[in-house]
Amino acid sequence: MSLPVGFLQRIQNQFPSNSIEFLEAIHAASTLSVRLNLAKTGNRRTDLTPVPWCPTGYYLDDRPYFTNDPWFQAGAYYVQEPSSMFLWHILSTLFGGRKPETVLDLCAAPGGKSTLLASFFPPETFLVANEVVQSRAGILAENVNKWGADNVVVTNSDPRVFSRLPNFFDLILVDAPCSGEGLFRKETASMAQWSLDNANLCSQRQRRILMDAWDTLKPGGILIYSTCTFNPAENEENMVWLSSQHNVESLEISVEPGWGIDVVHYKGIVGYRFLYHRVRGEGFFVSVVQKKSESDWQTKLGKTTVGMPLPKSLGGRVKDMVTAGNQYLLKDSIINVTYDLRYLSSVLGNINIVRPGCKMATVIRDEVKPSHFLALSSNLNSDFFQKSELENFQVNQFLRRENFVLNQPSKGLYLATWKGLPVGFVNYLGNRSNTSLPQEYRILKPVPFHGESLADSLKN
Ligand code: SAM
Repeated sequence: MSLPVGFLQRIQNQFPSNSIEFLEAIHAASTLSVRLNLAKTGNRRTDLTPVPWCPTGYYLDDRPYFTNDPWFQAGAYYVQEPSSMFLWHILSTLFGGRKPETVLDLCAAPGGKSTLLASFFPPETFLVANEVVQSRAGILAENVNKWGADNVVVTNSDPRVFSRLPNFFDLILVDAPCSGEGLFRKETASMAQWSLDNANLCSQRQRRILMDAWDTLKPGGILIYSTCTFNPAENEENMVWLSSQHNVESLEISVEPGWGIDVVHYKGIVGYRFLYHRVRGEGFFVSVVQKKSESDWQTKLGKTTVGMPLPKSLGGRVKDMVTAGNQYLLKDSIINVTYDLRYLSSVLGNINIVRPGCKMATVIRDEVKPSHFLALSSNLNSDFFQKSELENFQVNQFLRRENFVLNQPSKGLYLATWKGLPVGFVNYLGNRSNTSLPQEYRILKPVPFHGESLADSLKN
């Protein structure tokens, strides 16, 4: 596919001394990497090459068929391109000591950066992952469920709605929709969609999103702005525009020269640009600013008004199923969360909530039925359940939601594991099994599975 003429012209002006290297690198293969979920993989060793700016990120040389891998389906890792993982380095630089209480990922689907935020911050952080497009909010919720973070609230609202929560978040990530130049070699469709007009529209839309984010950022709070484009109008110029509107301080993040990241200084703003030919990653831009303020801001939290407290009889039956969190009843669902519920009460009524936390069980008549999401939660108390380790063909049938027989002498509910990792629940009925896997999570494409998994690259 040939590059859009307007894009070529801009790149030649923008990088006059190395546009040839840049344009050659666009035709090279894209980078492939995964980020491990240490809550599930533990501190296993691996010979994979690390992504230098993220301790849980690793490059892969070949693309396996991830969909079939039970460890992928159970949230042991996330397939994320390396440059985006630079967010980890930013967080380590800014939040080594005091951690934010409230975090908003405003443009969050499909959830690469939300799961990174969830892994970086402690479980008591109130982390809202928002996505304005409804269908994409569903994918986001699925990925968060698989990651098993019981402190992530998934919402589906327009960024404008968050201005109803002034001065609420300590940290906001705006990973803005953009012209996608940094994805040209990964997704050729983004090349076909590129146009000068669209890039200008993106810039305008990004400014609107930044304005909405600014209102809900606490004084003294941090805003991280990123795109996957090289277009100055969507990057550094937007940051300069933001500082013309508000009291903004641009923050510097130290980078190792060997990483190949371009540090962009532009009209008082610092940004970090990842160019195809200089970095082992895809195209990316990020800039960090702080909302300047004279005084410290304290959020006042009211009483919790969320759902219903669990009746004692139910509470006693579920509390040992998890290692951490508080449970409440929402209609017939028991929700486990590790954040302070008063935060959720503060946002209720303003924002459309898709996932308040881990839906750990449903109550049917007086029976408590553990849900698939509990099996995938990082707070699952696996010792509470009898377990059944699945064979390769069984786990594949489980993930396809096909019927299979467990190698167990007795009927009952089992926590199904594969290579030791929980993949879901199975209610074994003797001659068949009911699986906990939601219909919409099942694998559809019939690709044979012989046990290939990233788990093989991780050693105890
Ligand atoms: N942060 C995500 C991740 O790491 O997986 C990627 C986010 S993607 C770059 C930008 C997201 O913004 C998309 O999911 C898109 O649907 C959403 N979006 C589109 N229009 C938007 C708007 N007007 N306001 C906010 N978000 C929007």
